[in-house]
Amino acid sequence: MANTSKRTFSPEEYRAEIAALLPPLPIESRPLADCLGLVLAADVVADVSLPPFDNSAMDGYAVRAADVAGATDDSPVTLPVADDIPAGRTDVRPLARGTAHRIMTGAPLPPGADAVVQVELTDGGTETVAIRAEVAAGLHLRRIGEDVVAGTVVLRSGTVLRPPQLGLAAAVGVGALPVRRPPRVLVLSTGSELVAAGEPLPPGHIYESNSVLLAAAVREVGGEATVLRFVPDDVDQFRAAIAEHAGDADLLITSGGVSAGAYEVVKDALTGHGVEFVRVTMQPGGPQGRGRVGGLAVVTLPGNPVSAALSFELFVRPALLGALGHTAVGRPRARARSATAMASPANRTQYRRARHDEGLVEVMPVGGPGSHLLASFAASNCLIEIPDGVGQVRAGDEVELILLD
Ligand code: AMP
Ligand code: MG
Repeated sequence: MANTSKRTFSPEEYRAEIAALLPPLPIESRPLADCLGLVLAADVVADVSLPPFDNSAMDGYAVRAADVAGATDDSPVTLPVADDIPAGRTDVRPLARGTAHRIMTGAPLPPGADAVVQVELTDGGTETVAIRAEVAAGLHLRRIGEDVVAGTVVLRSGTVLRPPQLGLAAAVGVGALPVRRPPRVLVLSTGSELVAAGEPLPPGHIYESNSVLLAAAVREVGGEATVLRFVPDDVDQFRAAIAEHAGDADLLITSGGVSAGAYEVVKDALTGHGVEFVRVTMQPGGPQGRGRVGGLAVVTLPGNPVSAALSFELFVRPALLGALGHTAVGRPRARARSATAMASPANRTQYRRARHDEGLVEVMPVGGPGSHLLASFAASNCLIEIPDGVGQVRAGDEVELILLD
Protein backbone atom coordinates (compact mmCIF):
# COMPACT_ATOMS: atom_id res chain seq x y z
CA MET A 1 0.00 0.00 0.00
CA ALA A 2 2.63 2.53 0.99
CA ASN A 3 5.17 3.82 -1.55
CA THR A 4 7.89 1.81 0.14
CA SER A 5 6.34 -1.45 -1.12
CA LYS A 6 6.57 -0.28 -4.74
CA ARG A 7 9.29 -1.60 -6.95
CA THR A 8 11.78 1.05 -8.01
CA PHE A 9 13.51 1.36 -11.38
CA SER A 10 16.15 3.67 -12.77
CA PRO A 11 15.11 5.44 -15.99
CA GLU A 12 17.34 3.06 -18.00
CA GLU A 13 15.78 -0.01 -16.36
CA TYR A 14 12.29 1.33 -16.93
CA ARG A 15 13.05 2.04 -20.60
CA ALA A 16 13.80 -1.68 -20.98
CA GLU A 17 10.57 -2.59 -19.13
CA ILE A 18 8.45 -0.57 -21.55
CA ALA A 19 10.37 -1.84 -24.58
CA ALA A 20 9.65 -5.41 -23.44
CA LEU A 21 5.90 -4.63 -23.49
CA LEU A 22 5.96 -3.94 -27.22
CA PRO A 23 7.27 -6.82 -29.35
CA PRO A 24 8.09 -6.20 -33.04
CA LEU A 25 4.95 -5.36 -35.00
CA PRO A 26 3.75 -7.71 -37.77
CA ILE A 27 5.06 -7.23 -41.30
CA GLU A 28 2.59 -6.26 -44.01
CA SER A 29 2.75 -4.99 -47.57
CA ARG A 30 1.73 -1.34 -47.87
CA PRO A 31 1.38 0.92 -50.91
CA LEU A 32 4.26 3.38 -51.22
CA ALA A 33 2.01 6.31 -50.30
CA ASP A 34 1.47 4.76 -46.85
CA CYS A 35 5.11 3.91 -46.13
CA LEU A 36 6.66 7.29 -45.29
CA GLY A 37 8.79 7.04 -42.14
CA LEU A 38 8.25 3.27 -41.74
CA VAL A 39 11.04 0.70 -41.73
CA LEU A 40 11.60 -1.66 -44.64
CA ALA A 41 11.29 -5.28 -43.45
CA ALA A 42 12.99 -7.09 -46.37
CA ASP A 43 15.56 -6.34 -49.07
CA VAL A 44 14.16 -4.92 -52.30
CA VAL A 45 15.67 -6.39 -55.49
CA ALA A 46 15.23 -4.42 -58.73
CA ASP A 47 13.56 -6.30 -61.58
CA VAL A 48 14.62 -3.62 -64.05
CA SER A 49 17.79 -1.65 -64.67
CA LEU A 50 17.90 2.11 -64.29
CA PRO A 51 17.95 3.55 -66.82
CA PRO A 52 16.09 0.60 -68.40
CA PHE A 53 17.53 1.43 -71.89
CA ASP A 54 20.15 3.72 -73.45
CA ASN A 55 18.60 7.16 -73.79
CA SER A 56 19.34 10.82 -74.36
CA ALA A 57 20.27 13.14 -71.48
CA MET A 58 19.46 16.24 -73.57
CA ASP A 59 17.02 17.65 -76.08
CA GLY A 60 19.04 17.74 -79.30
CA TYR A 61 20.27 15.49 -82.10
CA ALA A 62 21.54 11.92 -81.96
CA VAL A 63 24.64 11.64 -84.17
CA ARG A 64 27.78 9.69 -84.80
CA ALA A 65 30.50 11.83 -83.23
CA ALA A 66 32.72 11.21 -86.28
CA ASP A 67 30.10 12.85 -88.55
CA VAL A 68 30.35 16.20 -86.74
CA ALA A 69 34.12 16.24 -86.21
CA GLY A 70 35.56 19.71 -86.78
CA ALA A 71 32.20 21.53 -86.55
CA THR A 72 32.53 25.09 -85.21
CA ASP A 73 30.50 28.30 -85.07
CA ASP A 74 32.25 29.52 -88.22
CA SER A 75 32.01 26.23 -90.15
CA PRO A 76 29.01 24.23 -88.95
CA VAL A 77 28.35 20.69 -90.20
CA THR A 78 24.93 20.27 -91.80
CA LEU A 79 23.24 16.85 -91.66
CA PRO A 80 19.85 15.66 -92.94
CA VAL A 81 17.40 14.96 -90.07
CA ALA A 82 16.26 11.42 -90.82
CA ASP A 83 13.88 10.86 -87.90
CA ASP A 84 12.27 12.47 -84.88
CA ILE A 85 12.34 10.61 -81.54
CA PRO A 86 10.13 11.93 -78.73
CA ALA A 87 10.29 10.32 -75.25
CA GLY A 88 8.16 7.18 -75.14
CA ARG A 89 8.69 6.21 -78.80
CA THR A 90 9.48 2.51 -79.20
CA ASP A 91 9.98 1.95 -82.98
CA VAL A 92 13.35 3.67 -83.20
CA ARG A 93 15.20 3.13 -86.49
CA PRO A 94 18.98 2.85 -86.66
CA LEU A 95 20.93 6.01 -87.42
CA ALA A 96 22.43 5.90 -90.91
CA ARG A 97 25.92 7.30 -91.39
CA GLY A 98 25.94 11.02 -92.26
CA THR A 99 22.47 11.70 -90.78
CA ALA A 100 21.05 12.96 -87.51
CA HIS A 101 17.85 12.07 -85.57
CA ARG A 102 16.17 14.83 -83.59
CA ILE A 103 15.82 13.41 -80.07
CA MET A 104 14.24 14.51 -76.77
CA THR A 105 15.46 13.98 -73.21
CA GLY A 106 14.65 10.44 -72.06
CA ALA A 107 13.96 9.14 -75.59
CA PRO A 108 15.64 5.86 -76.65
CA LEU A 109 18.94 6.27 -78.46
CA PRO A 110 18.85 5.00 -82.06
CA PRO A 111 21.27 2.12 -82.74
CA GLY A 112 24.40 3.51 -84.36
CA ALA A 113 24.34 6.87 -82.55
CA ASP A 114 27.19 7.44 -80.11
CA ALA A 115 26.53 11.01 -78.94
CA VAL A 116 23.86 13.68 -78.59
CA VAL A 117 24.42 17.31 -79.61
CA GLN A 118 22.34 19.59 -77.41
CA VAL A 119 19.82 21.70 -79.33
CA GLU A 120 21.45 24.95 -78.15
CA LEU A 121 24.53 24.13 -80.29
CA THR A 122 22.42 23.77 -83.48
CA ASP A 123 19.96 25.76 -85.57
CA GLY A 124 17.15 23.45 -84.35
CA GLY A 125 16.23 22.40 -87.93
CA THR A 126 13.74 19.64 -88.71
CA GLU A 127 14.68 18.88 -92.36
CA THR A 128 18.40 19.51 -92.01
CA VAL A 129 20.34 20.59 -88.94
CA ALA A 130 23.40 22.84 -88.77
CA ILE A 131 25.62 21.68 -85.91
CA ARG A 132 28.05 24.27 -84.56
CA ALA A 133 30.26 22.17 -82.29
CA GLU A 134 31.93 18.80 -82.34
CA VAL A 135 31.12 16.30 -79.61
CA ALA A 136 33.04 13.47 -78.01
CA ALA A 137 31.60 9.98 -78.41
CA GLY A 138 29.45 9.18 -75.34
CA LEU A 139 28.41 12.78 -74.69
CA HIS A 140 24.90 13.31 -73.21
CA LEU A 141 24.05 9.61 -73.19
CA ARG A 142 22.51 7.78 -70.26
CA ARG A 143 23.51 4.14 -70.44
CA ILE A 144 21.33 1.22 -69.39
CA GLY A 145 22.07 0.15 -65.80
CA GLU A 146 24.21 3.22 -65.02
CA ASP A 147 22.22 3.81 -61.83
CA VAL A 148 20.80 0.36 -60.98
CA VAL A 149 21.57 -3.05 -62.49
CA ALA A 150 18.57 -5.41 -62.67
CA GLY A 151 18.81 -8.22 -60.11
CA THR A 152 20.67 -6.18 -57.48
CA VAL A 153 19.45 -5.05 -54.04
CA VAL A 154 18.42 -1.39 -54.17
CA LEU A 155 17.05 -1.01 -50.62
CA ARG A 156 18.23 -2.98 -47.60
CA SER A 157 15.96 -4.39 -44.93
CA GLY A 158 16.02 -1.98 -41.98
CA THR A 159 16.13 1.16 -44.14
CA VAL A 160 13.92 4.00 -42.92
CA LEU A 161 11.69 4.96 -45.85
CA ARG A 162 12.17 8.66 -46.56
CA PRO A 163 11.11 10.40 -49.80
CA PRO A 164 14.22 9.37 -51.83
CA GLN A 165 13.84 5.69 -50.89
CA LEU A 166 10.13 5.74 -51.82
CA GLY A 167 10.99 7.41 -55.12
CA LEU A 168 13.59 4.74 -55.85
CA ALA A 169 11.13 1.92 -55.13
CA ALA A 170 8.70 3.44 -57.62
CA ALA A 171 11.51 3.97 -60.17
CA VAL A 172 12.26 0.23 -60.20
CA GLY A 173 8.55 -0.53 -60.55
CA VAL A 174 7.78 -1.61 -56.99
CA GLY A 175 4.39 -0.25 -55.90
CA ALA A 176 4.15 -1.68 -52.37
CA LEU A 177 6.75 -2.48 -49.73
CA PRO A 178 6.98 -4.90 -46.81
CA VAL A 179 7.09 -2.88 -43.59
CA ARG A 180 6.27 -3.35 -39.93
CA ARG A 181 2.81 -1.87 -39.69
CA PRO A 182 2.19 1.24 -37.58
CA PRO A 183 1.26 0.54 -33.96
CA ARG A 184 -2.37 1.30 -33.06
CA VAL A 185 -2.27 3.37 -29.90
CA LEU A 186 -5.17 4.46 -27.70
CA VAL A 187 -4.71 7.60 -25.62
CA LEU A 188 -6.92 8.12 -22.58
CA SER A 189 -6.70 11.05 -20.17
CA THR A 190 -8.26 11.00 -16.74
CA GLY A 191 -9.28 13.79 -14.40
CA SER A 192 -12.56 15.27 -13.19
CA GLU A 193 -11.06 18.75 -13.62
CA LEU A 194 -10.50 18.41 -17.37
CA VAL A 195 -12.28 20.38 -20.10
CA ALA A 196 -11.65 20.11 -23.84
CA ALA A 197 -9.99 23.07 -25.60
CA GLY A 198 -12.59 25.24 -27.27
CA GLU A 199 -15.20 24.82 -24.54
CA PRO A 200 -15.90 27.35 -21.75
CA LEU A 201 -13.67 26.87 -18.71
CA PRO A 202 -15.68 26.58 -15.46
CA PRO A 203 -13.98 27.62 -12.19
CA GLY A 204 -11.61 25.00 -10.80
CA HIS A 205 -11.19 23.28 -14.17
CA ILE A 206 -8.26 23.17 -16.59
CA TYR A 207 -7.98 22.52 -20.28
CA GLU A 208 -7.04 18.98 -21.19
CA SER A 209 -3.71 18.86 -23.03
CA ASN A 210 -2.05 15.49 -22.45
CA SER A 211 -4.08 13.56 -25.01
CA VAL A 212 -3.34 16.13 -27.70
CA LEU A 213 0.37 16.07 -26.95
CA LEU A 214 0.64 12.29 -26.61
CA ALA A 215 -1.37 11.52 -29.75
CA ALA A 216 0.81 13.91 -31.74
CA ALA A 217 3.93 12.30 -30.30
CA VAL A 218 2.64 8.84 -31.32
CA ARG A 219 1.94 10.06 -34.86
CA GLU A 220 5.34 11.70 -35.08
CA VAL A 221 7.07 8.33 -34.78
CA GLY A 222 4.74 6.68 -37.29
CA GLY A 223 2.01 5.32 -35.01
CA GLU A 224 -1.76 5.55 -35.42
CA ALA A 225 -3.24 7.32 -32.41
CA THR A 226 -6.88 7.25 -31.36
CA VAL A 227 -7.79 9.73 -28.64
CA LEU A 228 -10.55 8.44 -26.39
CA ARG A 229 -12.92 10.91 -24.76
CA PHE A 230 -11.23 11.69 -21.42
CA VAL A 231 -12.92 10.33 -18.31
CA PRO A 232 -13.48 11.76 -14.83
CA ASP A 233 -11.86 10.18 -11.78
CA ASP A 234 -14.38 7.36 -11.71
CA VAL A 235 -13.24 3.74 -11.82
CA ASP A 236 -16.33 2.44 -13.60
CA GLN A 237 -16.21 5.07 -16.35
CA PHE A 238 -12.49 4.49 -16.80
CA ARG A 239 -12.93 0.72 -17.12
CA ALA A 240 -15.88 1.17 -19.49
CA ALA A 241 -13.80 3.41 -21.76
CA ILE A 242 -11.07 0.79 -22.02
CA ALA A 243 -13.48 -2.10 -22.53
CA GLU A 244 -15.24 -0.24 -25.33
CA HIS A 245 -12.12 0.49 -27.35
CA ALA A 246 -9.45 -2.07 -26.47
CA GLY A 247 -10.35 -4.29 -29.48
CA ASP A 248 -7.44 -4.34 -31.88
CA ALA A 249 -5.12 -1.79 -30.29
CA ASP A 250 -1.45 -2.55 -29.60
CA LEU A 251 -1.03 -0.12 -26.73
CA LEU A 252 -3.08 2.00 -24.35
CA ILE A 253 -1.46 5.11 -22.91
CA THR A 254 -3.26 6.70 -19.99
CA SER A 255 -2.40 9.90 -18.18
CA GLY A 256 -3.16 10.96 -14.64
CA GLY A 257 -4.40 9.07 -11.62
CA VAL A 258 -1.24 7.18 -10.72
CA SER A 259 0.31 9.14 -7.83
CA ALA A 260 -0.12 9.04 -4.08
CA GLY A 261 -3.36 11.04 -3.78
CA ALA A 262 -6.80 9.84 -2.74
CA TYR A 263 -8.60 9.75 -6.13
CA GLU A 264 -6.08 7.91 -8.28
CA VAL A 265 -8.49 6.42 -10.78
CA VAL A 266 -5.97 4.58 -12.96
CA LYS A 267 -4.26 3.02 -9.98
CA ASP A 268 -7.56 2.10 -8.35
CA ALA A 269 -8.93 0.54 -11.53
CA LEU A 270 -5.89 -1.41 -12.69
CA THR A 271 -4.08 -2.50 -9.52
CA GLY A 272 -4.45 -6.27 -9.39
CA HIS A 273 -5.73 -6.30 -12.99
CA GLY A 274 -2.44 -6.72 -14.83
CA VAL A 275 -0.77 -3.35 -14.23
CA GLU A 276 2.03 -2.86 -11.74
CA PHE A 277 2.50 0.62 -10.33
CA VAL A 278 6.10 1.49 -9.66
CA ARG A 279 8.45 4.35 -8.94
CA VAL A 280 11.12 5.50 -11.37
CA THR A 281 14.01 7.38 -9.80
CA MET A 282 13.58 10.49 -11.89
CA GLN A 283 12.16 13.95 -11.68
CA PRO A 284 9.69 14.75 -13.00
CA GLY A 285 7.72 11.57 -13.72
CA GLY A 286 8.42 9.37 -10.70
CA PRO A 287 5.10 7.51 -10.43
CA GLN A 288 4.61 5.14 -13.36
CA GLY A 289 2.75 1.96 -14.23
CA ARG A 290 2.82 -0.66 -16.95
CA GLY A 291 1.44 -4.07 -17.72
CA ARG A 292 -1.15 -5.95 -19.75
CA VAL A 293 -4.88 -5.80 -19.42
CA GLY A 294 -6.46 -8.73 -21.25
CA GLY A 295 -3.54 -8.84 -23.67
CA LEU A 296 -3.49 -5.09 -24.33
CA ALA A 297 -0.18 -3.44 -23.42
CA VAL A 298 -0.82 -0.55 -21.04
CA VAL A 299 1.47 2.30 -20.00
CA THR A 300 0.08 4.61 -17.33
CA LEU A 301 1.78 8.00 -17.31
CA PRO A 302 1.55 10.61 -14.57
CA GLY A 303 -0.85 13.48 -15.23
CA ASN A 304 1.31 16.56 -14.98
CA PRO A 305 1.81 17.64 -18.59
CA VAL A 306 5.61 17.78 -18.46
CA SER A 307 5.76 14.44 -16.61
CA ALA A 308 3.53 12.82 -19.21
CA ALA A 309 5.47 14.30 -22.13
CA LEU A 310 8.83 13.41 -20.63
CA SER A 311 7.72 9.86 -19.81
CA PHE A 312 6.60 9.40 -23.40
CA GLU A 313 9.89 10.81 -24.64
CA LEU A 314 12.05 8.61 -22.42
CA PHE A 315 10.09 5.33 -22.37
CA VAL A 316 7.27 5.08 -24.90
CA ARG A 317 8.92 6.72 -27.89
CA PRO A 318 11.90 4.33 -28.00
CA ALA A 319 9.61 1.35 -27.42
CA LEU A 320 7.37 2.33 -30.36
CA LEU A 321 10.37 2.95 -32.59
CA GLY A 322 11.83 -0.43 -31.62
CA ALA A 323 8.54 -2.21 -32.37
CA LEU A 324 8.51 -0.52 -35.77
CA GLY A 325 11.93 -1.98 -36.51
CA HIS A 326 14.07 1.14 -36.08
CA THR A 327 17.57 0.42 -34.84
CA ALA A 328 18.22 4.03 -33.75
CA VAL A 329 15.57 4.50 -31.06
CA GLY A 330 17.25 7.11 -28.85
CA ARG A 331 17.54 10.84 -29.48
CA PRO A 332 20.97 12.20 -30.29
CA ARG A 333 22.93 13.31 -27.25
CA ALA A 334 25.58 15.96 -26.75
CA ARG A 335 27.46 17.72 -23.98
CA ALA A 336 27.54 21.46 -23.32
CA ARG A 337 28.40 23.95 -20.56
CA SER A 338 25.59 24.93 -18.26
CA ALA A 339 25.07 28.70 -18.35
CA THR A 340 23.82 28.65 -14.79
CA ALA A 341 23.89 26.74 -11.50
CA MET A 342 21.15 24.16 -10.88
CA ALA A 343 20.13 22.17 -7.83
CA SER A 344 18.90 18.62 -8.38
CA PRO A 345 17.52 15.98 -6.01
CA ALA A 346 20.56 13.84 -5.20
CA ASN A 347 18.88 10.43 -5.43
CA ARG A 348 17.07 10.86 -8.73
CA THR A 349 17.89 11.61 -12.35
CA GLN A 350 16.57 15.05 -13.09
CA TYR A 351 15.47 16.16 -16.54
CA ARG A 352 15.47 19.92 -17.01
CA ARG A 353 13.97 21.60 -20.04
CA ALA A 354 16.54 23.77 -21.73
CA ARG A 355 17.81 25.53 -24.83
CA HIS A 356 21.24 25.05 -26.29
CA ASP A 357 22.93 27.53 -28.62
CA GLU A 358 23.62 26.79 -32.26
CA GLY A 359 27.16 25.59 -31.71
CA LEU A 360 26.13 23.31 -28.82
CA VAL A 361 28.59 25.14 -26.58
CA GLU A 362 26.31 26.43 -23.86
CA VAL A 363 22.93 25.37 -22.52
CA MET A 364 20.43 27.38 -20.47
CA PRO A 365 17.54 25.85 -18.52
CA VAL A 366 14.09 27.14 -19.51
CA GLY A 367 11.84 27.62 -16.47
CA GLY A 368 12.18 25.68 -13.25
CA PRO A 369 12.02 21.96 -12.56
CA GLY A 370 8.22 21.99 -11.96
CA SER A 371 6.33 19.35 -13.91
CA HIS A 372 3.41 21.67 -14.68
CA LEU A 373 5.52 24.14 -16.71
CA LEU A 374 4.36 23.15 -20.18
CA ALA A 375 5.22 26.48 -21.81
CA SER A 376 8.83 26.02 -20.72
CA PHE A 377 8.86 22.61 -22.36
CA ALA A 378 7.38 24.03 -25.53
CA ALA A 379 10.15 26.66 -25.61
CA SER A 380 12.94 24.08 -25.20
CA ASN A 381 15.09 22.32 -27.77
CA CYS A 382 16.78 19.86 -25.42
CA LEU A 383 16.67 18.21 -22.02
CA ILE A 384 19.49 18.42 -19.51
CA GLU A 385 19.98 15.05 -17.82
CA ILE A 386 21.42 15.52 -14.34
CA PRO A 387 22.38 12.04 -13.12
CA ASP A 388 21.31 10.33 -9.96
CA GLY A 389 23.93 11.21 -7.35
CA VAL A 390 24.57 14.77 -8.55
CA GLY A 391 22.90 17.31 -6.27
CA GLN A 392 24.42 20.45 -7.64
CA VAL A 393 25.51 21.71 -11.05
CA ARG A 394 27.71 24.81 -11.08
CA ALA A 395 27.67 27.42 -13.81
CA GLY A 396 30.21 26.31 -16.40
CA ASP A 397 29.95 22.59 -15.57
CA GLU A 398 29.57 20.29 -18.56
CA VAL A 399 26.16 18.59 -18.65
CA GLU A 400 24.57 15.83 -20.73
CA LEU A 401 21.92 16.88 -23.26
CA ILE A 402 19.17 14.94 -25.00
CA LEU A 403 18.53 16.81 -28.25
CA LEU A 404 14.87 17.19 -29.15
CA ASP A 405 15.07 19.04 -32.48
P1 AMP B 1 -2.73 13.53 -11.56
O1 AMP B 1 -1.52 12.72 -11.97
O2 AMP B 1 -4.00 12.98 -12.10
O3 AMP B 1 -2.76 13.72 -10.08
O4 AMP B 1 -2.53 14.95 -12.22
C1 AMP B 1 -1.43 15.76 -11.88
C2 AMP B 1 -1.62 17.14 -12.39
O5 AMP B 1 -1.70 17.14 -13.80
C3 AMP B 1 -2.90 17.81 -11.92
O6 AMP B 1 -2.63 19.18 -11.71
C4 AMP B 1 -3.83 17.64 -13.11
O7 AMP B 1 -4.82 18.63 -13.15
C5 AMP B 1 -2.90 17.72 -14.27
N1 AMP B 1 -3.40 16.93 -15.37
C6 AMP B 1 -3.76 15.62 -15.30
N2 AMP B 1 -4.19 15.17 -16.49
C7 AMP B 1 -4.10 16.21 -17.34
C8 AMP B 1 -4.41 16.36 -18.72
N3 AMP B 1 -4.88 15.36 -19.44
N4 AMP B 1 -4.19 17.58 -19.28
C9 AMP B 1 -3.70 18.58 -18.55
N5 AMP B 1 -3.39 18.49 -17.26
C10 AMP B 1 -3.60 17.33 -16.63
MG1 MG C 1 -5.88 13.32 -11.89
